[in-house]
Amino acid sequence: MNDRGERIASPRTILYVALVAFVLAWILGPPALRSLVPVWLVFLLALGLELAFFAGAFRSRPAPQPDRGPQPGDRERFGYPPVVADDVFEPEADADLRWPPPRRRIRTLLAGLATIATLAGLAWVAESRTGWDGLDRESQVAAMERFSEEASVVAEKPVSVRCDVSGDFVGVVQHADGAAAVGGDTAYLTPGICHVLHRLAFEGEVAASRTGRALAVLAHEAWHMRGVRDEGETECYALQSGVALGRRLGLSEGRARQLMRQQLTENALRAGASFEYRVPPECRDGGRLDLAPGDSRFP
Ligand SMILES: [Zn+2]
Repeated sequence: MNDRGERIASPRTILYVALVAFVLAWILGPPALRSLVPVWLVFLLALGLELAFFAGAFRSRPAPQPDRGPQPGDRERFGYPPVVADDVFEPEADADLRWPPPRRRIRTLLAGLATIATLAGLAWVAESRTGWDGLDRESQVAAMERFSEEASVVAEKPVSVRCDVSGDFVGVVQHADGAAAVGGDTAYLTPGICHVLHRLAFEGEVAASRTGRALAVLAHEAWHMRGVRDEGETECYALQSGVALGRRLGLSEGRARQLMRQQLTENALRAGASFEYRVPPECRDGGRLDLAPGDSRFP
């Protein structure tokens, strides 16, 4: 039966034990975990499950059970003996035991939401201490100088790269991860992209496809500053320049090519709003946009 003693390991309890364990591992564990799993997605999932439990408590409330005892008509006809108190079937009492009253359900929901909020707060503090914002000003300046040098190589002129948090740049081509004016001399990258680049350039850490993405974004903005406007063409050139850029920032040749090919593959899967960023068909080995037509490797 479904008495309280057995509810200790309810799905909801398991959810919260797993969530606490995951967040602790995410905060204290290896950096690779942070790179691989977006923690906000995990909180969103937990929130969805909590709301599902809450809604489910209403939806799956069992229908009142029919009285299995003798019906009044039968009692009259057959003279059924009076029942002892212990045998009385009380569907209402049973339902209340299984399905807590609304006030308790809401209390449970609020406790769940508070737990999720607390864990999200912890993750946010950990992220701000260890992300781009967690670097001291000197390291940030050194990193931005390095990114500027590398972008200047791609742009073939002196340009500067800023890691900015304000996110409001009027009159420039703005993407989710970076922004630069076509033909301009300043590019802005998000702190997330800067942090991944910093880890590569200064700590030799590779965060799988996020490192590839960050290299592509830096190269993409550099190509805009070099004067290319079309998004698909810009991205095509960026993925090719990203190989040498990755090598200069510490990757092996093979790894750099693998990351840029992965970006090219992911680019082909783009659709909808990001369609304009898809590379054109001419972005291939020997195609019009191939920067090294004599080289059979691409990118
Ligand atoms: Zn662009």
